[in-house]
Amino acid sequence: MGLQIHLVYDLQGWCCVSIITFVWLYNTLYVPKLILFPHYEEQHIPAAVIVLYYMVSLCCITSLVRASFADPGQLPQDPDIPYSERQLWEICNKCNKMRPKRSHHCSRCGHCVRKMDHHCPWINNCVGEDNHWLFLQLCFYTELLSFLTLLFNFCQYYYLEPLTKVKEELFVFRHELAMLRISTLMGIVMFGGMFGLFYGQLSNVIADMTTIERMSSNLDEMLKSSKPWQQTFSEVFGTRWKILWFIPFRQRQQLRVSYHHANHV
Ligand SMILES: [Zn+2]
Ligand SMILES: [Zn+2]
Repeated sequence: MGLQIHLVYDLQGWCCVSIITFVWLYNTLYVPKLILFPHYEEQHIPAAVIVLYYMVSLCCITSLVRASFADPGQLPQDPDIPYSERQLWEICNKCNKMRPKRSHHCSRCGHCVRKMDHHCPWINNCVGEDNHWLFLQLCFYTELLSFLTLLFNFCQYYYLEPLTKVKEELFVFRHELAMLRISTLMGIVMFGGMFGLFYGQLSNVIADMTTIERMSSNLDEMLKSSKPWQQTFSEVFGTRWKILWFIPFRQRQQLRVSYHHANHV
């Protein structure tokens, strides 16, 4: 609990995070300024469309910031291991710390992470047990925001009525076509790039596997998850309330599932 900030000092990672933040900032400023507010003032679109866009944008940046700065599941120096679970722990041969099985040592971060999925340069952090839910939300809201941006760009160009009051003195209106093309290009790259990643993530959660486990398993093992999908998603998000799976403004609580209930130990 509390606002604990987990920082990974990696220049390449910071560059990747900056690119993502720039794309978010560009579209969050550009789409409302050039498309949504002017068309709302001329009563071409309802206010709900603007509210929806800002809400998706807010969820997107919140999940990005939280996934980047959250502790992914670093293990304490001297973990308190329940006696009944001792045989399910092992020692890491890189940092010599005890860790539960399904943990992995991240060479980029320099420590072990519980139920590590992968190290993601785009958030400059590991994706592990404690921030996997935020990473899934980030994938979802990035897809949604990119889709809305592409949709509004399309509508602006082909569908919406032309504006009667165009503020020619503003930069965005003087360079409208160029800004529209940049936004569309970024939207296509983000939507297309994130689509494969998001699909892979959802497949992994359904199969109750991490990306690392999937890469080191054969197909037979991948298909043997016996848990229903509601259970595997509930464990990742820390709640059985499906509506909460979409909310990044909350604290995740661990579901009471011990490590030995996992299939892949
Ligand atoms: Zn380690
Ligand atoms: Zn890492």
